[in-house]
Amino acid sequence: MLMASKHEQCGPRKASYTGLTDHDTLKINVSGTKYAVVSTVAKELGLATVHADTNECDVYWIDGAISLEKFLEMKHYQKVNHFPGMGEISRKDSLGRNMQRMRKENPSEYSFVPQTWVLPGDYNGVSSYMRELKRKRRNRTFIIKPHNGSMGNGISLARSIEDIPRDQNVVVQEYIDKPLLLDGFKLDLRVYVLITSCNPLRIFVYKDGLVRLSTQHYTAPTDENIQEQFIHLTNYSINKHSDSFDASEGYDKGSKRTIKYFNGWLALNGYNVSEMWAKIYDILIKTLIVAHPHLVHSYSACRPGRSVEEKCQCFEVLGFDILLDKDLKPWLIEVNRSPSFGTDAPLDLVIKRGVVKDALNIINLSTADRKRSIVAHKVASRRRLLVTPSKSRYDFLGEQEEADYEIKKKKEEVKERLLTIRRQKALKDHENECMGDYVRVYPTTDWSRARIYEGLLETAAKICLVGRSQPGSRSRRRSFFSSLQTLKEHELMDLLSQYEYQEQHGPDSPPRLSYIRPATSHYQPLSVADSHSPMDTMYAVMAARVAEEEQVQRMMMSLNDTKPSYPLKTQDEVHRVLEEINADLLTHRPNIASFWMVSLDSTKRKQLLVPLKDLIKRLLQSHWRTTNLDSVKLFHVLNRLFSYLLSRGGKGLWSVFVPLHKSWEADFRDKSEVLSMTEIVCCRKVVELCQSTLIAGYYYHHLHRPKRQSKSTSCKRIPTSSRRPSSIPKCPSLPVVIPHPSYSIKQRPYSQTRITSNRPPPTRFRQTDLRFP
Ligand code: ADP
Repeated sequence: MLMASKHEQCGPRKASYTGLTDHDTLKINVSGTKYAVVSTVAKELGLATVHADTNECDVYWIDGAISLEKFLEMKHYQKVNHFPGMGEISRKDSLGRNMQRMRKENPSEYSFVPQTWVLPGDYNGVSSYMRELKRKRRNRTFIIKPHNGSMGNGISLARSIEDIPRDQNVVVQEYIDKPLLLDGFKLDLRVYVLITSCNPLRIFVYKDGLVRLSTQHYTAPTDENIQEQFIHLTNYSINKHSDSFDASEGYDKGSKRTIKYFNGWLALNGYNVSEMWAKIYDILIKTLIVAHPHLVHSYSACRPGRSVEEKCQCFEVLGFDILLDKDLKPWLIEVNRSPSFGTDAPLDLVIKRGVVKDALNIINLSTADRKRSIVAHKVASRRRLLVTPSKSRYDFLGEQEEADYEIKKKKEEVKERLLTIRRQKALKDHENECMGDYVRVYPTTDWSRARIYEGLLETAAKICLVGRSQPGSRSRRRSFFSSLQTLKEHELMDLLSQYEYQEQHGPDSPPRLSYIRPATSHYQPLSVADSHSPMDTMYAVMAARVAEEEQVQRMMMSLNDTKPSYPLKTQDEVHRVLEEINADLLTHRPNIASFWMVSLDSTKRKQLLVPLKDLIKRLLQSHWRTTNLDSVKLFHVLNRLFSYLLSRGGKGLWSVFVPLHKSWEADFRDKSEVLSMTEIVCCRKVVELCQSTLIAGYYYHHLHRPKRQSKSTSCKRIPTSSRRPSSIPKCPSLPVVIPHPSYSIKQRPYSQTRITSNRPPPTRFRQTDLRFP
């Protein structure tokens, strides 16, 4: 029998919910689903099924999307099989738009979606693309789909611009016209993907799935055959109406087969099956990365005051449609948030039963959640009272009490973080034990892929946050809380003991906490000698790490706020220049390379970056409130970064412009000591600023230098496409400067520039920061 105490620790450790007492019975509400397989599986697992539309249940299984109202109504221990916000990838128009944005930022990582236009807005884009193809005498086919269509409804193929509807809500997509064929038929894969949490993102893929075949032999699209749905579409809902639909029950024949069979067929025919799956997993992860910020945003909006890291109330089984071309390159066709769980054929039943059963096992339903939810609710209210006292409450506190209060507050947050870590660990153990036929694909164990995904998550968050307000008032709390995220469980335990010690002996009791550098780094601890025992020293080091991380985060905020600028130019002008060059970077790249690595010698290269370097130094001094930065780790890291960028005749910075197999980051990080995520983000921002500096320098000193100077140098000719707009005046003098908006830098020679602070260093937090480990 499943004991509540076991649940409390790490959830049920068996693949069924049977054996619960009446009082403990878990209930699933199936009134929102038409699929019988859900109830069947639930009963097999020992869940009681509720058919009425009541909220007396532990989990809801519904076919459509969940409305925000419904989610808001749900109790904190209840779960539902959808995430609010998933429409961002499951609607064809949203998927198209989101993919366009991500592709713009990361063209090479997002080349798995056929080129897509969302009409009517993108009509001009698709028509000029088609005209260009016509001019080059290239025959291409396009597929037109309704914005929110499904089951092949309303889909048509087009081969000329006249067939593209100008004013309709459709997406137009390049048609993959050389698909992989099985027995002469076009096919696509239905891959079942389970998401158990949005922050952190946890993704599983079911090992089996469906292969759906068209019912007429495939021939490349022509004006004559583009109407033939049974050739070009692989939807079961379309092909089941074909006379040629083969309902054979054997796994190796018929118009519907299993992925397991298909893998065998591929292997027999000499294809590299594991490589294909690695690519498919990569597509699934990258697609969910696009959805990630929307999921986190919607989830937090519906559950204000609750950490998204708490046991997630949502899970979702998505059906990804993947098309393979003749070279076995997988293409993402669409994401179904309500994949069919119909079981027309025995093969459907076997697969879909497994998909539902293993999903219900992984999500770790437990009656203890109900009880825990009530307790957690009380704890949260208590914590809210402690953590966010009203201003007036502070007014009544004396200095000493206020300090005590701060410690209590921090202690609560450390406890909260510890709880989260333990919960996550227990959850992972449970998932590993109950995965059944699912495999975990994210978080990935491949370190180099993980780094790429981290970067993409950041980009997706940036894109999603454009135009959204940033959290401000709770930044200080966030700041402390985020810094805790870098600590391991045993480190948090130590910190907790330290706060407890301080609570008993007063906030000023030894050991002194502040400004001690990590023992692991080569920086000298400033006041370890003041500590009273090895344990005290350890606590002090922990607290210092938290303090250090907070400072690095503030620096990161400042760098994020920093905009490229130039002496005697407005920021808008410089912004326009950067946009102009970036828009045609491929043309400019050889000239930038020649400017940076040939026209400039090592002194001039250094000179170009000096103002930026100085500015960063001043920011560091201001954040660390000292002019002596010797003991500041980030200062040394950034110094090393500048040296790296200038190294090998400027090749370090140049590598940023070139999409290399091994990025500058991997290269720099290989040579550097271990960096925290926040330090890495600072480095990335500095590299970005250096890149902008180089582009601005190239523009003002290479493309648009006065004639008298150009005679004496070996500068290249100016491409006509990139001539400076007349609004941007000429400026012959190096160097470029990038001031921080928080500081007014007087326009005078750099040796004399001075910072006057307008406001304290910003402590604003962006949503992206929430996911730092
Ligand atoms: P629906 O949601 O209506 O099923 P899909 O986008 O899944 O719409 O498209 C239906 C079918 O059309 C797919 O199963 C696939 O066979 C075919 N298809 C869709 N997009 C493409 C494409 N870009 N290239 C080739 N075939 C496609």
